[in-house]
Amino acid sequence: MRVVLMGPPGAGKGTQAKYLVEKFGMVHLSSGDILRAERADGSELGEKLKSYMDAGELVPDDIVVEIMAKAIAKQDADKGLLLDGFPRTVTQAGALDKQLEQLGLPLEAVLVIEADESLLVDRITGRRSCPKCGRVYHVKNIPPVKEGICDACGAELVQREDDTEEVVRQRLAAYRKQTEPVIEYYAADGRKMIRLDGGAPLEEVAQQAAEALAS
Ligand code: ADP
Ligand code: AMP
Repeated sequence: MRVVLMGPPGAGKGTQAKYLVEKFGMVHLSSGDILRAERADGSELGEKLKSYMDAGELVPDDIVVEIMAKAIAKQDADKGLLLDGFPRTVTQAGALDKQLEQLGLPLEAVLVIEADESLLVDRITGRRSCPKCGRVYHVKNIPPVKEGICDACGAELVQREDDTEEVVRQRLAAYRKQTEPVIEYYAADGRKMIRLDGGAPLEEVAQQAAEALAS
């Protein structure tokens, strides 16, 4: 199964991706995670990525497309793919279509998790993530059993540098302006679109997503 997972920052993409991967076994590729790993090595490219990401702006298309094309090409095609956070512009969507067409592996569904802007700021500022296994928590909504510690692997949870209210507002503006047109791009092309309410409890969203993908 090859699926693009879309939605504003904080809608629950990463959270739902964990469930979907457990259920369907596809490979989860989060462009945000891949870019954060790339910037962690302190290279010149890393510094460039940091300047965009810390400001809540999108990284330029040519850089993201190259990094994601390499990541996709490395995967075992039989397992399927869950792309989370990529594509985020119509240019990226076109480049992805071209690559998947060349591989003979077109997209099968676009899963959009929608959520109200008022909800998103609270979701993002309360987010804590495990730097070791990638599991995502929320200080109020989905707290770990022991405060600040990952239930799954015991590592200390961290807060992302760009998860501040000021940067969130910028990221939401980028989403509305640059990423929402990608939903139109796919819908106009007759792709299988699944739209879910990300404001619902997490188990409910997970169940609806799994049912829609399996049908
Ligand atoms: P995204 O990947 O779309 O940016 P995340 O999956 O990281 O979003 O979720 C953002 C925050 O919201 C996290 O703190 C997560 O624990 C919390 N969250 C995700 N889904 C739900 C939900 N259905 N109900 C309440 N909180 C949620
Ligand atoms: P995320 O982890 O998906 O919230 O992404 C964090 C940041 O990484 C974004 O605010 C962007 O700066 C950058 N980023 C992630 N994916 C993309 C993409 N597909 N295109 C451009 N920038 C991206």
